Amino acid sequence: MADLLITAGRVLTGPDGESVEDGAVLVRGNVIAAVGPRETLAALATDEVSTRSFPDSTVLPGLIDSHVHLAFDASSDPVAARQASDDETLMAGMADRARQLLGSGVTTARDLGDRNGLAVRLRDAIAEGALPGPRILAATTPLTSTGGHCWFLGGEVEGADAIRAMVRRNVRAGADVIKVMATGGGVTRGGPAIWQSQFSEDDLRVVVEEAQSAGRPVAVHAHVTEGIEAAVAAGVDTIEHCTWMAEDGGFDLREDLAAKIKAAGIHICTATSPNWRGFAERVGHERAEQLFASMRWMDQLGIPMIAGTDAGVTRAVFDKFVNSIESYQYLGIPLPKIIDMATVDAARALGLGSETGRPAVGYRADILVVDGNPLDEIDALRRVRLVLAAGRPSLG
Ligand SMILES: [Zn+2]
Repeated sequence: MADLLITAGRVLTGPDGESVEDGAVLVRGNVIAAVGPRETLAALATDEVSTRSFPDSTVLPGLIDSHVHLAFDASSDPVAARQASDDETLMAGMADRARQLLGSGVTTARDLGDRNGLAVRLRDAIAEGALPGPRILAATTPLTSTGGHCWFLGGEVEGADAIRAMVRRNVRAGADVIKVMATGGGVTRGGPAIWQSQFSEDDLRVVVEEAQSAGRPVAVHAHVTEGIEAAVAAGVDTIEHCTWMAEDGGFDLREDLAAKIKAAGIHICTATSPNWRGFAERVGHERAEQLFASMRWMDQLGIPMIAGTDAGVTRAVFDKFVNSIESYQYLGIPLPKIIDMATVDAARALGLGSETGRPAVGYRADILVVDGNPLDEIDALRRVRLVLAAGRPSLG
């Protein structure tokens, strides 16, 4: 395969907005062969190099959406839509949604709950080059309590033996990560309330032990503070949502627990919908502001946070990642840090820190080229010129 030399007005090379002006990236096959000033790299390219020049653009690492559900279609009732589809129909929809993610600049997506291991099938088809899409990390079936949050995905477990068996089943099915619903959630009618725990600390310890013995990290869905506390004590790797809700429907921000999260290096994925502004209108300004205040509080305490959209749940579409991360700008987080939350920090949190998340030599050629400078205006991320996932362009 001929080398591809991408030159641009600016190449983001590291965290905190570190970049090279008038830079270039040399892609060889599916890896990055060199990064640096344009003139230096031009001398390194082989005779057969093809060059693409984007003088008014920025090259950055492909984006990472750390929380999606490809099996859901973002419709008003994604659960019913999913249940009405047979596996082949559902798979076709998932492939289409993966393509949408890629087209918006997402080159890695963590799927945190699907049906019948379809996300694993899609992951493998994309990895083989049979379908376009981001690299997928798949959780397969989320563990939940009987009748609990997302029970209809097939992951109901009670007691240590059943928990261990479900983790092992998921690992055999090809899971990259184990997902557990520690508390109730929004999309499950008739399930436990969002402020109720579904598993004890001991249950969660069993999940973590079994996952660790198979070399898999654990992502835990937790809204209520009691569930967050149990997850932290159990030693999970990421906490999804982490809204610090209280049993009475209010909020319970605990500095001691926040300090433990930070010390343990647990990453929080807020899984903020691209439709967060509409959400704020629906739940009411005051409640929405309380939620945003809890996120701002976590950021100010230095808790590591990563970007995710919960794409697939109602109104959380697959081609508006930038809408989601604009919520972090609303919180007051500076743009270079927001980009890190969607690239280098997310890669580290997902165990891919030595493979993707920044354009470095030997890393996967996951590359996004956008017009303008996203360090100055987040809107630049919407002006996508080129996306490469493992060296393959999103189109054609
Ligand atoms: Zn989710």
